[in-house]
Amino acid sequence: MSDCIFCKIAEGSIPSTKVFENENVLGFVDLHPQAKIHLLFIHKNHTVDINDMAANPVHIGEVFQGIAEYTKSAGLDKTGFRVVTNLGREAGQSVFHTHFHVVGGEHLGHFGR
Ligand code: 5GP
Ligand code: ZN
Repeated sequence: MSDCIFCKIAEGSIPSTKVFENENVLGFVDLHPQAKIHLLFIHKNHTVDINDMAANPVHIGEVFQGIAEYTKSAGLDKTGFRVVTNLGREAGQSVFHTHFHVVGGEHLGHFGR
């Protein structure tokens, strides 16, 4: 989508610090990290949120395969990490291209309010 910042990051017209990329999936560093490791994983096909992405479940699988490949190669699976996705206003979604936060690198408090 032409006015979507994460589509532009996927195309390379907005710079990002990429940690993982294949034909379908991109992982990059969050601009405002909330933990020592804070990455975002996206599918290159534009959808607005996980419910929209669920129309093509294979895309969800491809993103999670990317997360698995990256976290194993980086050893993050040994220490642990969290995957979060926000949908809509009350969850605080601010970018409307489906993305999965991958957070770790330190002990994480329990999530909630
Ligand atoms: P949300 O609040 O929608 O769940 O998450 C959006 C995330 O995107 C935020 O954590 C924010 O820091 C990150 N973000 C917003 N704009 C950019 C950008 O241009 N580049 C990168 N790398 N991250 C961004
Ligand atoms: Zn997009």
